[in-house]
Amino acid sequence: MALPPQPWPTGEVERLEPLVARVLAPNASPFTFTGTQTYLVGGKEGLAVIDPGPDDPAHLLALQSAIGDATVRAIMCTHTHRDHSPAARPLAEATGAPIVGCAPLHLHSDAPRVDAPFDQTYEPDRVMEDGEAMTGPGWTLRAIATPGHTSNHLCFALEESGALFTGDHVMGWSTSVVVPPDGDMADYMASLARLHEREDRIYYPAHGPAVEKPRQLVRGMIGHRRQRERQITRLLSEEARSIEALVPVMYKGVPEKLWPAAAQSVHAHLIDLEQRGEVQETEDIWQVT
Ligand SMILES: [Zn+2]
Repeated sequence: MALPPQPWPTGEVERLEPLVARVLAPNASPFTFTGTQTYLVGGKEGLAVIDPGPDDPAHLLALQSAIGDATVRAIMCTHTHRDHSPAARPLAEATGAPIVGCAPLHLHSDAPRVDAPFDQTYEPDRVMEDGEAMTGPGWTLRAIATPGHTSNHLCFALEESGALFTGDHVMGWSTSVVVPPDGDMADYMASLARLHEREDRIYYPAHGPAVEKPRQLVRGMIGHRRQRERQITRLLSEEARSIEALVPVMYKGVPEKLWPAAAQSVHAHLIDLEQRGEVQETEDIWQVT
């Protein structure tokens, strides 16, 4: 999807529906599209802030101005990549609201990260388990466990309107980056299947435009991943190859700067296929079993 025409509404409050507004953070990049979108749910008597975003002074000021004199009941995080959760702590200090949502993840990876690294400072006041709800005046946000992009990923369902806040699990502009070892393709596929069974009216992802035909998009994503998987097993049945040899064939036509991210996805698929006994690896060379 091409970038929407500039200027993007960074720092502005966009009202999407009676209970939902959005504020865009100034952190556009190839992995965040136009930037992280923080959602405000509720009204003056009580708000939830979903994915407060990067710890960026301009974004924090924009959030505080959007909140105005409303009471913040909860600061909710879908997962702990650094473009999602670091503003939680300063916003909690400024508003007195608790941080709730996904579990903390303390991962130390030596490998260079192609997407956002993890926020090691995230300390929630309350971890939400699958199916648990946070409530405020006129709203109920229920946690839906959706591991895959990260192992701690949650989506939040706004029961009063049928909207689902999908974080980085499902986005309209791009497929989700699944980076092993924390990212897990089998979990990701199961989490897609889980959303496909639901009847949500609209998705509000952390990056990119709202998704107005959610089940259709999810169905397409499941199909896309299955197609990638078939492509991998077909290429490997022709000849054993390394990930570095698979990527240029599989991602011909995709800008080369995105190949490192593509390689992580291919790796995630290979691990899934290996766990299912379909491929095996010797010294970085993969072959069908
Ligand atoms: Zn993420």
